Amino acid sequence: MNKYLKHDEWNIIEEGFVKENVTSSESIFSIGNGRMGQRATFEEKYSGDTLQGSYIAGVYYPDKTKVGWWKNGYPEYFAKVLNAANWIGLNITVASEELDLANASKVDKFKRVLSMREGWLSRSFTAQLQSGKTISVDTKRFVSIVDDELGAIKYAIKAENFSGQLNIAAYVDADIENEDSNYHEKFWNEVSQSANRDEAIVTAKTKKTGFVVTTAMRYEIWKNGERLSLNSNGAVREKYAECSVTIDVNQGDEVVIYKFATNVSSFNHPEKELEAVAKNELDKALTKHFDTMLAEQKDAWAAKWEESDITIEEDISAQQAIRFNIFQLNQTYTGEDERLNIGPKGFTGEKYGGSTYWDTEAYCLPFYLATAHKHVARNLLLYRYKQLDRAIENAEKLGFKNGAALFPMVTMNGEECHNEWEITFEEIHRNGAIAYAVYNYIRYTDDKAYLADYGLELLIAISRFWSQRITYSENYKKYVMLGVTGPNEYENNVDNNWYTNNLAVWCMKYTNEVIAYVKENEADKYKALSNKISFLESEETERWNDIISNMHFPESKEHGVFLQQDNYLNKEQILVKDLDPSQRPINQKWSWDRILRSCFIKQADTLQGIYLFEENYDIETIERNFDFYEARTVHESSLSPCVHTVLAAKLNRMDKAYEMYLRTSRLDLDDYNVEVHEGLHITSMAGTWMSVVQGFGGMRVYDGYVYLNPRKPKDWGSFSFKISFRGDVLKIKTLDGKVEVENQSVNNVELFVFDKKLVAKANETLVVNC
Ligand code: BGC
Repeated sequence: MNKYLKHDEWNIIEEGFVKENVTSSESIFSIGNGRMGQRATFEEKYSGDTLQGSYIAGVYYPDKTKVGWWKNGYPEYFAKVLNAANWIGLNITVASEELDLANASKVDKFKRVLSMREGWLSRSFTAQLQSGKTISVDTKRFVSIVDDELGAIKYAIKAENFSGQLNIAAYVDADIENEDSNYHEKFWNEVSQSANRDEAIVTAKTKKTGFVVTTAMRYEIWKNGERLSLNSNGAVREKYAECSVTIDVNQGDEVVIYKFATNVSSFNHPEKELEAVAKNELDKALTKHFDTMLAEQKDAWAAKWEESDITIEEDISAQQAIRFNIFQLNQTYTGEDERLNIGPKGFTGEKYGGSTYWDTEAYCLPFYLATAHKHVARNLLLYRYKQLDRAIENAEKLGFKNGAALFPMVTMNGEECHNEWEITFEEIHRNGAIAYAVYNYIRYTDDKAYLADYGLELLIAISRFWSQRITYSENYKKYVMLGVTGPNEYENNVDNNWYTNNLAVWCMKYTNEVIAYVKENEADKYKALSNKISFLESEETERWNDIISNMHFPESKEHGVFLQQDNYLNKEQILVKDLDPSQRPINQKWSWDRILRSCFIKQADTLQGIYLFEENYDIETIERNFDFYEARTVHESSLSPCVHTVLAAKLNRMDKAYEMYLRTSRLDLDDYNVEVHEGLHITSMAGTWMSVVQGFGGMRVYDGYVYLNPRKPKDWGSFSFKISFRGDVLKIKTLDGKVEVENQSVNNVELFVFDKKLVAKANETLVVNC
């Protein structure tokens, strides 16, 4: 843990300059707009430990996989979200001394603020340089969510104790290397660069994938409130362009640099037009200028908060944390482009980068379903549908046939590109999460048209995979699924992972239901689809039904629990509470061999299965499994605590639920796993939202109705969240002794509160005592 941030309802605040915290803060204070984003690196030079990271959605590089002995089935490459041009750079030189906080003789009044309410990042400090000259800096920047290819910086410098010359170089640098490059290779090739009086433009092209990105900037300098007419020098070198100017300053003068920049890529524009588009973007930025762009940014963020804010009274650390999670989710994915998805680290770091994982379907979908327009969640589904052909190819490469699909565990474009064969290769459970997302989407939105147009085709392909992957065991006289890895990555190549078996069987049942629905309601589309994919319904579903009726599910009668996998009880059963704290986290202290042999569970697995199908289990079963597995879970995946919060709240274990909530919600702010410098855990942030809404709010959707069973943590004065459900908007506030459901829509809404059917009248607040 590393707790150095101030608690505040709407801001993330760091005070005091501590070199050891620089890379952590770079992650925490990241900014983004769905189209691009960046770590909170300093604009001026910093020679200390730093990861200058600037990322553009959809622009990636297929870095050649690094393995010892190659085996069939290994992915050819591991996709990297590309660290792209640095557009924030400003080199500040006072006389001949560079401003560099790593070398300053003193840094005072250092303060960084991330305004989550308004979507900007600021930093201020006073630095005494080695010569004794002192300057104060006050800077603010943002990436616009209104003009999503633009960013703007206002950088103010005050000469505190000297008169002399100040040199300012504003630059764009695409000569950038990914920190996680497998072979220390640079992924950008030079295309062109130019610089003139106040404009610098660099165009670079990615190797192999051929994405072309033009990054351009213009700048202005003002002194004591007056704009200077610049006599800048333009200078270029490979993948780099800058404009620099020297100005005279007197003690007390304030110099303000405005830097506007744009990133435009061939992902969104014809390659030939990139430079023209970039210039247009910059014209737009300069016409609006900083203050107008900032005002628009504030309004746009206000609208986002109107849809997605959660309030928590009387617990400022919990309030700050939930807003931080929501803010980062909204910075990462806006849902306007079905080619994009949500990377586990979003735009904040490189490990796991911007690739798509099962995290999207298993964790993120519920957040976007409830807080954004329907098309946002639909776009997440369509992303996978559009990659179905590749998922079929992927399965074919592994020996499956007849249109069976195995979606990748890690992907940028539908191809499998994970980097850790022994773990991720057998995590075929991701196929189940992708099928479940279709069910979850339909259950929430009732957009049944999706099933005939896209959903059924995907479900059949996935069910075909399960039916081929599952084999019959003469020994058990049951169907079995051998050699898999469940969500718990601390056991690999196990037989009959309960979670995966459960999901596979559910998926075949659900596919049967959807077949029946589409056949009855969209007969023509059903026929067309059957022809397209050569679906032999009776033959194929006969095997599915046999598997459904005869699947093996490991259980322990003695403990009254579902078993993680066939051999789980052969492991030495030690509880987490008996683990020497110095041995944790075990993934940093133990050999992989020791971890695999231990009973310790990295993240919710059996409990994840119970969470997905909670309605199938009585409360005693949930309780027994929760007690058994929670005691053995080390939560070394960020995706684990949220599932535990939801189940603990259901079981009315409010202390445990709250403990797990803090762990998920402040995971990055308090750096629980001492790894925040690598980037934020964006996808688990959706789990934090689930913890409040599904956990403490007890929100579920069954049979077209919203169900609420709120349970307020005792230290919270109240908490409230908003959901949009089938066109209606409900704000649910839970206080001591009552729940208020404010229906903000024009329709009356029927819903269940504490399992009683009630009506929340249009534009009225329904009050339910508890
Ligand atoms: C988790 C996976 C997850 C991945 C990306 C891993 O640590 O175990 O379940 O998909 O991180 O978030």
